[in-house]
Amino acid sequence: MDPSKWIDVTSESFKYSLDHFVIPSHYQKDVSSILIPHGIIMDRIEKLAKLIVEDSKGPLVICCVLKGGHQFFADLVNEIKKCNTVLGQSVPLSLEFIKVRSYHNDVSTGTVSISLTDEECQDWKNKNLLIVEDIIDTGNTMVKLLHKLQEFQPASVRVASLLLKKTPKSNGYVPNYVGFAIPDEFVVGYALDYNEYFRDLDHICIISVSYILDFG
Ligand code: 5GP
Repeated sequence: MDPSKWIDVTSESFKYSLDHFVIPSHYQKDVSSILIPHGIIMDRIEKLAKLIVEDSKGPLVICCVLKGGHQFFADLVNEIKKCNTVLGQSVPLSLEFIKVRSYHNDVSTGTVSISLTDEECQDWKNKNLLIVEDIIDTGNTMVKLLHKLQEFQPASVRVASLLLKKTPKSNGYVPNYVGFAIPDEFVVGYALDYNEYFRDLDHICIISVSYILDFG
């Protein structure tokens, strides 16, 4: 792993107390700490957008991996649009959505289902794709998705993932753009869910063990 490509988040240095930030009251008991506050996420996305625009020579098809990637996708696209307007760059964007599912509760099921039809993807031939994902854990989902995308003969495919989990279960896959490398813990918030809960939490948080025992 190349630590210069991302912010290395360690359990010791980055666990913020819940008392120091605002958390919706319906989640107070369900998360144990804040790993990445929302403001830091937004500042990091501003930089990722700049890097992506600098590396882009022409139009970009930005593909959101649903559901977990939707918040990162929305904020990243906004920042790329700002590069086009404020900084005077010119990267025409088109936006696409891919639904992928591989997790049940906090456990990877090992099977990855990708909802993509040939009609949806036929326009991707010879285009430059940017896949926007919330988190790479084992890397199996992304490797499978990238393999599938080759069927549509894009000119290039790059991947931006907000989070990269430091886990011994990794298959070694590393995205082109990474926001933060995080400890091997189950995180929620900023559209990352646990069975559809916590998507409406702004900060990226560590789920509490008691929540998993009660509802897992
Ligand atoms: P992978 O195939 O890389 O093991 O897993 C990728 C997918 O698993 C992600 O897109 C995400 O949906 C889910 N995932 C992996 N780790 C976490 C986590 O810590 N929290 C949440 N909410 N989802 C995760």
